[in-house]
Amino acid sequence: MKRQEDGATLTVEQASAAISACLVPIKDSKSTPIRAALGRVLAHDISSPIDVPAHDNSAMDGYALLGSALAAESPVSFTLVGTALAGKPFAGRAQAGECVHITTGAILPDGCDSVVPYELMLEQSADNVVLPARAVASGANVRHAGEDLRKGSIALGKAKVLRPADIGLLASLGMAEVPLLRRLRVAFFSTGDELRSLGETLAPGCVYDSNRHVLHAMLTRLGCEVIDMGVVKDAPAALEAALRAACAQADAIVTSGGVSAGTADYLRPTMAKLGTVNFWKIAMRPGRPMAFGRITSEGKDAWLFGLPGNPVAVMVSFYMIARDALLQLAGAQHSPLPRVRVPSAVAIRKRPGRTEYQRGILHPDADGQLTVSLTGEQGSGILRSMSEANCMLVLPHERGDVSIGEPVEVILFDGLI
Ligand code: AMP
Ligand code: MG
Repeated sequence: MKRQEDGATLTVEQASAAISACLVPIKDSKSTPIRAALGRVLAHDISSPIDVPAHDNSAMDGYALLGSALAAESPVSFTLVGTALAGKPFAGRAQAGECVHITTGAILPDGCDSVVPYELMLEQSADNVVLPARAVASGANVRHAGEDLRKGSIALGKAKVLRPADIGLLASLGMAEVPLLRRLRVAFFSTGDELRSLGETLAPGCVYDSNRHVLHAMLTRLGCEVIDMGVVKDAPAALEAALRAACAQADAIVTSGGVSAGTADYLRPTMAKLGTVNFWKIAMRPGRPMAFGRITSEGKDAWLFGLPGNPVAVMVSFYMIARDALLQLAGAQHSPLPRVRVPSAVAIRKRPGRTEYQRGILHPDADGQLTVSLTGEQGSGILRSMSEANCMLVLPHERGDVSIGEPVEVILFDGLI
């Protein structure tokens, strides 16, 4: 890794690219039951061992027949010769002028190529049914063998983060187990002499350590195996011990606090002692200071993400910088957070030369069109602004003030935060 000059200022994109260029994803994989696979990363491509569906089958409840027999001027009468149920095929063959009762999912009987839905039936007796001429086009309401997936084709690609539909797809292929990468192990701790853990009494000037709980929640949502290292005092020996212990157990370490110039007096030399760590000023707001590098302790090494201490800054730098990096380390395919463009309902002051992340509320305007407002006070210590928001506005590096009605990009929190 090329060491950046201390104090170098990078854009968000430069910082992300510099981090991404260094990272080496984990490789260990293990066959795992699909019930434990939600949110996990697929280790290999999965090719389908079967055609899905395996046979031509009916998409409707109705009558299976040869579609060309419906090409007439007046209603057509068919002899009912049997029933095809899902899981219980009709054994015979439909001849000219014959049809078969069929339910959704049942194998299409020999001699049939179309299904007429029940609702279109004109008359029915025990062994006869009358259907309208041209009730359906030839081939209608039939699902063809292999139409979802051909045997041998790739059903799910390597590095995919598995969602409920993917778990269902694996089950539809008959796969009880799936090869997954092991979860990324991430140790995290908060730094600061002023921090108190829950249950402790707040002395004057102290605050509860909220960041560690936010980090725990964000890392858990990202699918990481989390290791909580507690609160660490702003003292060299304590920081070194915490970093060494984290290094021994984790692939990556995420810390909060102590990285801004002046406050980093202990973190900086301690991190430098254990490895190569860059302290960056990133042209972003909130989240300007950040440390990134790799540290080693007793032959084991770990990636280090030193996030700022302000409660909003820690979340913004986690989502805008650390998230992609942690997913890359976890072996997941690159999936940047989707952004949507909507008109701003409010005027926003923005200084060119840094990327700004403002907490927003996406809501419909009087005409039902989506528009975005701000949550109010945007200070980087005001965690309530994150809690009230349902999205984050991303105002790019070069952009200046935003006037009412101008489009802005937002990242939705739903499913994220
Ligand atoms: P620092 O980056 O360490 O200078 O911290 C910046 C600000 O964030 C200070 O006001 C801290 O008290 C606050 N802060 C730092 N860490 C935490 C934490 N874990 N929980 C809540 N607030 C924090
Ligand atoms: Mg601090």
